[in-house]
Amino acid sequence: MVPIGLNGELDLSVLKNVLGMKTRLVALTHISNTIGAVNEVKLITDLAHGVGAKVLIDGAQAVGRIPINVQEIGCDFYVFSGHKAYGPTGTGVLFGKFDILNTMPAWQGGGGMVKDIHAGTATLKRAPHKFEPGSPNFAGIFGLETAINYLTKIGMHKIHAHVSTLTSYALQQHQSVPNIKILGCPSERLGVISFTINGRNLKEVAAELDSYGLDLGVGHHCAIPLMEKYEIAGSIRISFAMYNSKSDIDALINGLLRVCHDI
Ligand SMILES: *Cc1c(COP(=O)(O)O)cnc(C)c1O
Repeated sequence: MVPIGLNGELDLSVLKNVLGMKTRLVALTHISNTIGAVNEVKLITDLAHGVGAKVLIDGAQAVGRIPINVQEIGCDFYVFSGHKAYGPTGTGVLFGKFDILNTMPAWQGGGGMVKDIHAGTATLKRAPHKFEPGSPNFAGIFGLETAINYLTKIGMHKIHAHVSTLTSYALQQHQSVPNIKILGCPSERLGVISFTINGRNLKEVAAELDSYGLDLGVGHHCAIPLMEKYEIAGSIRISFAMYNSKSDIDALINGLLRVCHDI
């Protein structure tokens, strides 16, 4: 495991030390769902390929926010959830390099994956069909396609610029709120900011913010080891979508000022 520093960045010097001929797979997130740190996926992919390891990137927090070019990154696998990219829940994408997918065994059996079959022998179709047995979730996949077309029409570069502006604005504006502690200070942060408030129960804070119409995530965000690293039980998380605006952040800062003034 490669540790994360208190700044929220992966410790690449450790990565270089642990990578070796025995490394089969390097799996990492593109953007942290808790700190918002943007990991150096291309650099890490190059390092992993240097020892012959494959690379899988979890892009759940990246796909709806930045343009992704898997060929440019060079990763072997890239995954994301449909519902984080404005699509239906229960859908998602696994990209894999065609040659690698074709050498991988099918892990489930069902209709539609077989090219030829006789008693005792079966030839499977090529990827991706051999991994998609049975009747697929057509409705969900059409929904995901519509979401992707919608994002493409707006323009991922435009969405990236917007979310980036919101992230910087929120980081700058939070300075006016006393007692707030933001987790990490990665050199690149996008779309997600987590914080604690000294001396406050965060669930109560989140409930009070909710009463002002501000919906924030609170808890460990499925990142308990990271919470342990910061020696906290949880944090409050702000997460920006493309439809958020600066006025949402102003409302959040006002809400936080109200919360903090009755400490
Ligand atoms: C949300 C999230 C997941 C889980 O995806 P679901 O489709 O909601 O199960 C995995 N990884 C990251 C980085 C996420 O943000």
